[in-house]
Amino acid sequence: MKCQCCGEQIEIMAFKCKRCGELFCVDCRLPEIHDCSVVIVQKWEIFAVNRKKLTT
Ligand SMILES: [Zn+2]
Ligand SMILES: [Zn+2]
Repeated sequence: MKCQCCGEQIEIMAFKCKRCGELFCVDCRLPEIHDCSVVIVQKWEIFAVNRKKLTT
């Protein structure tokens, strides 16, 4: 089993991200740390909303 973020071999415990469902080591388990794809989508949504505000 390999961490989807740093590529480190996970031997003891793998953490499954609740948002993207990928497996990560203890260091990368938080969505903010492993650049969780769902987090990125949310950032883009915020960006889109801000852009809308600017143009109106
Ligand atoms: Zn890792
Ligand atoms: Zn994730």
